[in-house]
Amino acid sequence: MSIMKAVFPGSFDPLTYGHIDIIRRAATMFDHLVVAVAASPCKHPMLSLDVRASLAAQVLKDIKNVSVVSFDNLMIDFLREEQAHVLIRGLRSTVDFQYELNLIHMYRTQLPNIEVVCLPTKLEYSFMSSTLVREIAIHRGPITQYVPAEVAKAISDTLSSRT
Ligand code: ADP
Repeated sequence: MSIMKAVFPGSFDPLTYGHIDIIRRAATMFDHLVVAVAASPCKHPMLSLDVRASLAAQVLKDIKNVSVVSFDNLMIDFLREEQAHVLIRGLRSTVDFQYELNLIHMYRTQLPNIEVVCLPTKLEYSFMSSTLVREIAIHRGPITQYVPAEVAKAISDTLSSRT
C-alpha cells in the first residue's frame, strides 16, 4: 500500500491557531503531513524563515506524523521534490476560495497529478489571519488569543530588537 503524503504550505508569519487547527485535522487524514514554511521573500516576512520553521517545529512536536521543513524555491518544484500526492489549503471565506481556486488551476497545469484538499476553517478561527496578528503586534496589542505563547514571545523579541 502506498503512503499518502500531504503538504501544507504557507508563510506562517506567524503560525496562528487557525493554521494549527488545519494541521491537526489534516494530520488525521494522511499518513504523513509536511508543514512547508515558505521563504516568501516578496512578502518581506516579519519573522525570519528559521524562526518561523523552528516555532512550527516546537508547537507541532506532539503530532507524530507531522514534520516541518522550510523551502525557498517554487512551491510546485518543492512538491515534486517531496513526491507529495496532496496539497492542503485552509479556507476562511469565499475570498480565500476564489484565490485558492485560481492557484489550484495554476498548480495543476504544472503538476497535473496533484490533488488539492481544502479544509474549511472552524468558525472561531474564520477571522484570524497572520496579517491581522502582525498589525496588532506592531501596535503592541494583545495577540495571545491568536497564537501560542512561544510564537507571541518570538514576535515580541523580534519587534523589541528592531527598536
Ligand atoms: P500564504 O498565504 O503565504 O500561503 P499563510 O500562512 O497566510 O500563507 O496561509 C497558509 C494557508 O493557511 C492558506 O491556505 C490559508 O488559507 C490558510 N489559513 C490561514 N489562516 C487560516 C485560518 N484562520 N483558518 C484556516 N486556514 C487558514
